[in-house]
Amino acid sequence: MTQTNIIDKVTRVAIVANGKYQSRRIASKLFARFKEDERFYLSKKDPDIVISIGGDGMLLSAFHMYEKNLDKVRFVGIHTGHLGFYTDYRDFEVEKLIENLHANKRRKISYPILQAKITLDDGRVFQVRALNEITIKRIEKTMVADVAINKVKLERFRGDGLLVSTPTGSTGYNKSLGGAILHPTVEALQLTEISSLNNRVYRTLGSSVIVPKKDKIDIIPKRQGIYTISIDNKTMHYKNVSKIEYCIDKKKISFVATPFHTSFWERVTDAFIGELEL
Ligand code: NAP
Ligand code: MN
Repeated sequence: MTQTNIIDKVTRVAIVANGKYQSRRIASKLFARFKEDERFYLSKKDPDIVISIGGDGMLLSAFHMYEKNLDKVRFVGIHTGHLGFYTDYRDFEVEKLIENLHANKRRKISYPILQAKITLDDGRVFQVRALNEITIKRIEKTMVADVAINKVKLERFRGDGLLVSTPTGSTGYNKSLGGAILHPTVEALQLTEISSLNNRVYRTLGSSVIVPKKDKIDIIPKRQGIYTISIDNKTMHYKNVSKIEYCIDKKKISFVATPFHTSFWERVTDAFIGELEL
């Protein structure tokens, strides 16, 4: 066996953690553990596995750090707070995680992500990706925007703004706005209103709309001004947005498959309901 073959078998691991004491403690424990194991090579560059330590918010950051590597990378989340939607392992399950990385060399579970093309009046175009959602709001005045699905004009929206979420993002901001919870394996996008104006003069659908894979949602702002666009945990301000086009990205996010994976519905009831007294 040549040297190259041996190197090929080594799994490159990147560890990212939030600033919490508990997260940094686990990160250093993992560092030490991986350093003494020749089957793993610690590297922030071009990793096979990205271990995110913290909460769902930290995993969102990890996703954006490595969004150019989606073809290759598999993510794993370790939660140091409460059980999350993107985090599978608890802080004391580090050994279990390493065992699983050995046992399931390439097994993964993949979920859809959101792609958006933002076009400004001055001609600039930004292509972005989101794991949870993208929102567009106009803060200074009512946002007026046309909404179209597959070029069919659905409505003229008036209100604070609009949100488009992924299935895994449906339990985040989307849910707070009254949107539906979607199982992460449903390949769809959800369009949800943020405080729409509804009266005798102005009319919107009022409910969230769930669109299947391949369908495209366009939002066309009708007024000049400053728009606030959030992409997961990042917020940007743009002058005069002419259009945002949303679709499900060709790429997906992959997670290391976990044998004892908590079911999605268990996470939902654990996160939003708590102890059930039946
Ligand atoms: P944050 O303000 O620290 O966290 C917002 C909360 O949302 C945290 O409890 C976070 O979990 C949780 N969260 C993130 N993704 C989730 C998901 N897919 N399903 C269920 N809960 C989720 O900000 P952050 O941690 O950077 O997260 C950014 C996200 O916050 C955005 O993508 C958006 O979904 C959400 N958000 C919600 C509202 C709202 O509900 N009104 C407003 C703005 C943003 P952890 O504690 O595990 O990090
Ligand atoms: Mn957070």
